[in-house]
Amino acid sequence: MSQLFREPANVIINRIKRGELTAEEYISVIIDRINNMDTKINSFITKNFENAIKRSREIDKKIQKGEKTGVLTGIPVGIKDNISVKGLKNTCASRMLSNYISTYDATVIEHIKSEDGIIIGKLNMDEFGMGSTSELSPYGPVRNPWNHEYVAGGSSGGSAAAVSSLQIPISLGSDTGGSIRCPASFCSVIGLKPTYGSVSRNGLISYSNSMEQIGPIARTIFDIVPILNTISGEDRMDNTTVVLKSQYRIKSLEEILSSKLRIGILSELIETSEAQIMNGIQEKIKVLEKFPFDLEDTRLGILDFAVAAYYIIAMAEASSNLSRFDNIRYGYYSNPEGYDWRSYFAKSRSLFGDEVKRRILLGSYVLSAGYFGKYYAKAQIVRSRIRNEFEKLFMKYDVLILPTMPVLPFKLGERISNPVDLYNLDLFTILANLTGFPAISIPAGFSQEGFPFGIQFIANAFDEQKLIDLAVLFEKEFDYKERFESI
Ligand code: GLN
Repeated sequence: MSQLFREPANVIINRIKRGELTAEEYISVIIDRINNMDTKINSFITKNFENAIKRSREIDKKIQKGEKTGVLTGIPVGIKDNISVKGLKNTCASRMLSNYISTYDATVIEHIKSEDGIIIGKLNMDEFGMGSTSELSPYGPVRNPWNHEYVAGGSSGGSAAAVSSLQIPISLGSDTGGSIRCPASFCSVIGLKPTYGSVSRNGLISYSNSMEQIGPIARTIFDIVPILNTISGEDRMDNTTVVLKSQYRIKSLEEILSSKLRIGILSELIETSEAQIMNGIQEKIKVLEKFPFDLEDTRLGILDFAVAAYYIIAMAEASSNLSRFDNIRYGYYSNPEGYDWRSYFAKSRSLFGDEVKRRILLGSYVLSAGYFGKYYAKAQIVRSRIRNEFEKLFMKYDVLILPTMPVLPFKLGERISNPVDLYNLDLFTILANLTGFPAISIPAGFSQEGFPFGIQFIANAFDEQKLIDLAVLFEKEFDYKERFESI
């Protein structure tokens, strides 16, 4: 069987553009791979194979005619199931939306299509993006490609696991509090959460709108750059987006080294992680010492209330965003006959899973008269203090380094009955969402038992290029391609 599925997107794009490989040949290899692998991983909710083949033929025609094709020519992209793709089901892994078919494309999808990328399917996740393990899905849990009895991380677990198990080269996830970076860390792939406002949220089903961003997942930074360029930029359908100054690019080593990056290492956070993660990350940082960068230990002043503030804000926004699913305007429609309005609401809203219900209840509570000042307003104060703290650090440093997750992947079912325990695992990832700053998780190695973990870089607003530069350097230093040989 063809091993083409092992190749990164940038290699495939060139081969298709040069006419050495047709988009149709490649897509059929990918479809075979998904059919073989996904019975074990469970990363897809909807497969879009027929349309994908049709689209690949159209792209091949363009190439035969000598027409110019886009930066994603022939590349299958998997889409988290909370991002709208016209004509496909958009379930958000919820029974509430199990029959809902999108009537329009999210802006990011329009861009992918116009760059000749191919939408290959919709990917499994925690219901409405609420979770860190991808176990909270009525379609069953996503399984970690490195050990199928372990969690893939979440909530974009399907997006990370599909890329890590070599089913697809690129996917999109959404990150409200770490949902791109956590599964990237657990599955040994790269995940980037862009600066708030740099990627349109039009067509993303909202969970916590002031914190979430759509972002890419891939196995190499060389594949992150073209998809990030494709989805980034101003959109008149989302007035929180801004015009970006320039396109991202892969710089040469000399150019990266000449920029003399100032790097702040959040040692305290590294030291509170599981021992193998701590050691692994410290080793990686040592490698940076041989480059002409300014490396310095530093610390973040206030972290004590960060998780509490994140969850208060996320739940408050969730309770408001999910109120539209009311059996009248949006969501599962059930025949109202014989019901008063309360049971009419309840009939449809009882379809939400337990975690979603918990968040709606807590979110409504912290927004209610009498408690608003006690919880929600205080959480916003904590949020702005954390942002101030980061702004101070970014006067001294270009990039901050910390782990992505404090733990290695754990067994399916192991932590799911203790939500607060799971919430606490988000401490390192939520910081970039509370502040809006961009962050990337890149693979940092494996534990002795063979479980991956990630290292995280956070930069100032709209400084994604610096995250990319560091990722390029790490990728050159450590040959990450090898790690997929066992997959
Ligand atoms: N684990 C976090 C939460 O449950 C992050 C989720 C996300 O980023 N969508 O809110």
